Amino acid sequence: MGEFELIRRYFAAAACARPGDELALGIGDDCALLELPPGEQLAVSTDTLVAGGHFPDPCDPFLLGQRALAVSVSDLAAMGAMPVAFTLALSLPAADPQWLNAFARGLDAMARQCGIRLAGGDTTRGPLCLTLSVFGRVPVGQALTRSGARPGDLLCVGGRLGDAAGALPLVLQQEQADPALAEPLLAHYWSPPPQLALGLALRGKATAALDISDGLLGDCGHIAAASGVALFVERERLPLSPALLAFAGREKALECALGGGDDYVLAFTLPPGELAALQAGADVHVVGWAEQGTGVHLLDAQGNEILAGRRGHVHFGG
Ligand code: ADP
Ligand code: MG
Repeated sequence: MGEFELIRRYFAAAACARPGDELALGIGDDCALLELPPGEQLAVSTDTLVAGGHFPDPCDPFLLGQRALAVSVSDLAAMGAMPVAFTLALSLPAADPQWLNAFARGLDAMARQCGIRLAGGDTTRGPLCLTLSVFGRVPVGQALTRSGARPGDLLCVGGRLGDAAGALPLVLQQEQADPALAEPLLAHYWSPPPQLALGLALRGKATAALDISDGLLGDCGHIAAASGVALFVERERLPLSPALLAFAGREKALECALGGGDDYVLAFTLPPGELAALQAGADVHVVGWAEQGTGVHLLDAQGNEILAGRRGHVHFGG
């Protein structure tokens, strides 16, 4: 199977590759064409996933397709953007029809769940590696950046933390667990639902936001630095799932929530007056607050600062 046959059969033929809405021209030309409504900005983000580093190799190609797109679309959610389109640069060791079919189905399932269209990409031979770029739209001035947190804001998260990090020993098949515990944890690792509705609900309300990909403490450090505030995190308030608590125990679960990766849950700062209305429609948990100062400070139940060891996942040094 040649490159063009592969693209046609597995990607151009996918339901999510059909042009429509903002995607005026899709796969098949030198560029895709996107149309934005007047008054909206294009939100753009790129992520690369390398086999063996960002996901186990081999792994289930359907789950990989789902996950690759979910983690990319999560960046759009974090900006308060509506998904428009994505591109896929795929490096593959071989054109295995079974693998490609399952991968494309997983990708298509997540694309339709998120309302995003496949606009194009690139296909080359090489070690298994995926680069996805996502494009979203957001009204001018309404994007949720990392830089607007103010002293007095609450620090909130959009769901339970640590499930994906807790699932890692299961993903790597180093440990086993009862299916009742393993399934919800593995589901969060393989298809973390991008919090698009929450991102939209935060427009005009949250003062800063991001999606947690490298652990709560490390990622809160980005908001603290960009906003020029100190963030205080109360360890006892971190929302943890029953499955994670039962599988890992409380101490390990807290470690997963604070320093583990792959949550793709939104963390954001919010003026206290906005909380009640937001909580009526979303699973929002207050985990701390912002003050004048710098850095991220983890507090125990008595309000004493805990010196955290590992602060998130860093690829180069640190
Ligand atoms: P060019 O050589 O002009 O860059 P290609 O031959 O690489 O174009 O690709 C042909 C068409 O197929 C383009 O529209 C491109 O966006 C699309 N495409 C290539 N690889 C993929 C892929 N993995 N997924 C989706 N679209 C792809
Ligand atoms: Mg090309």
